[in-house]
Amino acid sequence: MARLILLGTGAAWCGPERENTFLLVRGATTNLLIDVAGSPTQRLAQVGVGPHEIDHVVLTHNHPDHIYGFPIFMLNAWMAGRRAPLHVYGLADTLRSAKALLKAVGFRAWPNLFKIKYHTVVINSEAALPRIDEFEISARRGKHFVATMGLRVTNHATGKCFAYSADTAPSANIVALARDADYFLHEATQLDESNAGHSSAVEAGQAAHAADVGELILIHVPPEINASKWKRAAKRHFRGKVTVANDFDVIAF
Ligand SMILES: [Zn+2]
Repeated sequence: MARLILLGTGAAWCGPERENTFLLVRGATTNLLIDVAGSPTQRLAQVGVGPHEIDHVVLTHNHPDHIYGFPIFMLNAWMAGRRAPLHVYGLADTLRSAKALLKAVGFRAWPNLFKIKYHTVVINSEAALPRIDEFEISARRGKHFVATMGLRVTNHATGKCFAYSADTAPSANIVALARDADYFLHEATQLDESNAGHSSAVEAGQAAHAADVGELILIHVPPEINASKWKRAAKRHFRGKVTVANDFDVIAF
């Protein structure tokens, strides 16, 4: 059984109880980070994982709240003694930003830095990320202010999967990505108002209904929300289980 650990669940403006949204996938042999926000080493320490134990980093898009932790994560992985290559995945624009962040902090001067292997994700309709050990990972573009992608991760051992919308306005691509998923983590930056680049809890519920998922988990939410209001809004269109994500929630899959 693998575990998805929510290291942060907040929208771009975070608060004392919610870090910006980023996720850890813990497999039997692999640790994978999805986005790198906040103080990643501090968050990882709370779940007993060192930064050097992360093998793969997937960056969904280049907005600050999703990638600002990347340079300190890399520095700490190096300080903790990582020497094996580290794989970083993202769309072309996202990887350009990630590389620029590292350049800005002079990473080339770090002696014996591990190899960073960048993988540019090219998405047509069915393109997939490279297979990562025990997982099947696929991606589709969302609808945001910049190029972004949602992810679907399936555990080969259990057949269970989750889909994560990343930042997106309502998107048919993301619904297709999440089709029949066991868990669907959909952003809900607002309660019910529209926003060109984000979704509301109501729209997340519509997406969960359209994708016919098992459970909807609202994520990327403002710091101090009334969770029952958010849930009720999502339930207007989705009859399955709805929860509002909290930092350090764990989803076994
Ligand atoms: Zn964003």
